[in-house]
Amino acid sequence: MQRPALSLIIPVYNEEEIIAELDRRLKAFLAEVDETWEVLFVDDGSQDGTSAALGNLASAEPRYKVISFSRNFGHQIAITAGMDRAEGDAVVIMDADLQDPPEVVTEMIQKWREGYDVVYGQRSIRHGESVFKRATAAAFYRVMRALMPIEMPLDAGDFRLMSRSVVLSMRALREQHRFVRAMVSWVGFKQTAVRYERPERFAGETKYPLRKMIRFAIDGITSFSIVPLRVATWLGLLSGLVAIVTSAWALYAAITEQTVPGWATIMIAVALAASAQLIMTGVLGEYIGRIYEEVKRRPLYVVADTMNLPPSDPSSVTTEAAAAPSRRS
Ligand code: UDP
Ligand code: MG
Repeated sequence: MQRPALSLIIPVYNEEEIIAELDRRLKAFLAEVDETWEVLFVDDGSQDGTSAALGNLASAEPRYKVISFSRNFGHQIAITAGMDRAEGDAVVIMDADLQDPPEVVTEMIQKWREGYDVVYGQRSIRHGESVFKRATAAAFYRVMRALMPIEMPLDAGDFRLMSRSVVLSMRALREQHRFVRAMVSWVGFKQTAVRYERPERFAGETKYPLRKMIRFAIDGITSFSIVPLRVATWLGLLSGLVAIVTSAWALYAAITEQTVPGWATIMIAVALAASAQLIMTGVLGEYIGRIYEEVKRRPLYVVADTMNLPPSDPSSVTTEAAAAPSRRS
């Protein structure tokens, strides 16, 4: 069978109120795009009527495909499973709740045709989200950006189009704790944004309660940055300085006999021991950080293109990325 031009990946978790409307909006949009397509629904262990509803839709429309998880693995794993199976030359990730309007995808496709490999949706206005959610999201994107060793766009979620080369490269990143939007930045290639107003969730409640949001933020920071581990080193150096000053002061006080005997010894010992421990914790952090970077087993680079070179290893994903046909050329 011929590969479709466009794949839509839609993670779904307990969204029974939304499926019918989602189907209607998708069909209306897909009838307009001049491309062959497939839609990959990833049912992330829904416990309500979602699975049955998706099953019904898929039996009537062969281009609707469903991947069902055995339990709830979480949104980031769901979109990963979608990327593992998507066949399209362009692959779009979007939420099921219609907060990522299908119509914006038309604009993304246009940018892709212009030659971009990643087109992410950047939220200009967010409708119907609490002040708390908006404020924490804004703070989150800015803290992330400060801590990340790679450039990450502000106010962009997972709603994005990726070329097949990007998707094939993403398949090589098999880490457990996944923060997909930053992984896409890490992969590189030509990236650009389309701005859109984020509408309110069509129905139902957010499937990202505060608990999951905090987990998500910690995963995001720790999977790309070892800055938190380095904090110990800096604290250690700072307390080392304080220890030197404290020691000088304690010695002076002891010599001028302003204290009880033994006080200075204890002060100096405590200050020095504390800073030595923090510094050593920092050193351990540096090594653990490096071990951590290594066990991720990331490829060291991603090749975008080669010329007049035979593929070095046909089984490697990065070579496949280089060899992926581009529809634009
Ligand atoms: N989702 C999922 N697994 C989860 C949580 C959410 O597949 O464990 C899906 C959900 O069905 C939706 C998307 O991920 O399609 C985004 O979730 P949600 O809209 O609840 O997040 P919010 O927009 O509130 O940040
Ligand atoms: Mg949502």
